[in-house]
Amino acid sequence: AVPTDDAPTIFDKIIKKEIPANIVYEDDKALAFRDISPQAPIHILIIPKVKDGLSGLSKAEERHCEILGYLLYIAKVVAKQEGLDKGFRIVINDGPDGCQSVYHLHIHLLGGRQMNWPPG
Ligand code: 5GP
Repeated sequence: AVPTDDAPTIFDKIIKKEIPANIVYEDDKALAFRDISPQAPIHILIIPKVKDGLSGLSKAEERHCEILGYLLYIAKVVAKQEGLDKGFRIVINDGPDGCQSVYHLHIHLLGGRQMNWPPG
């Protein structure tokens, strides 16, 4: 079942440092940490610290435009910090068909190997 937009997720605990995470970037608006189950040599999740109903991209409203753009920019900053000078992939899974498992918007940053296209 798809949870409600404001239901807490494991990412809230990571933001509050209640559970450990390998954090690679943090500021007042965004947090980036290594995925616990990496699908590439570099696999980082970039999330907004304030969810504001953004359980997934499909819930985006116009008020979210600023944070959405900011998170994409931070994905680029982290990619550079990680030395992904040959390129990288950005993924946002949404809903059951998109294989979303955590309902707090997150950008996957994948790199360090040749990616395949089309994805599965
Ligand atoms: P989704 O499938 O929703 O697009 O992505 C959720 C991601 O969160 C998955 O890649 C999963 O491995 C990762 N993940 C789930 N729980 C944790 C956790 O407790 N810590 C970290 N670092 N990653 C997690």
